[in-house]
Amino acid sequence: MQDCLFCKIVAGSIPSTKVYEDDMVLAFRDISPQAPTHILVIPKIHIESMTDVNEKNVGAVEQIMRVIPVIAKEQNLDNGFRVVTNVGEDGRQSVKHLHFHILGGKQLSGTMG
Ligand code: AMP
Repeated sequence: MQDCLFCKIVAGSIPSTKVYEDDMVLAFRDISPQAPTHILVIPKIHIESMTDVNEKNVGAVEQIMRVIPVIAKEQNLDNGFRVVTNVGEDGRQSVKHLHFHILGGKQLSGTMG
């Protein structure tokens, strides 16, 4: 998608601090970290949000689920972490390319909403 920030990061036209990459998935550090470790895990193909996951593209999401524990281990999040995906306006999704936040490196707040 031409005007998608995260598609541009996948293409390399906008820089990112990569922590993991394979043919389906990219993970990089959030530019505005909300925890000592804050990583975004995204599919390389453009999927707008969880609402748009379907039979055709679910393979990329499945790969993200495989990769998240690998990244958590590499980042030494052995004491736990949080995975969040925001969807749409009520979910306060600001970038319209599916992404999973991995947050950790400290004990996180107990509030979720
Ligand atoms: P969300 O609010 O769930 O859509 O999350 C979007 C996330 O993308 C926010 O946590 C931003 O800090 C992060 N973000 C925005 N631009 C960049 C960028 N160029 N590189 C890394 N993270 C970014």
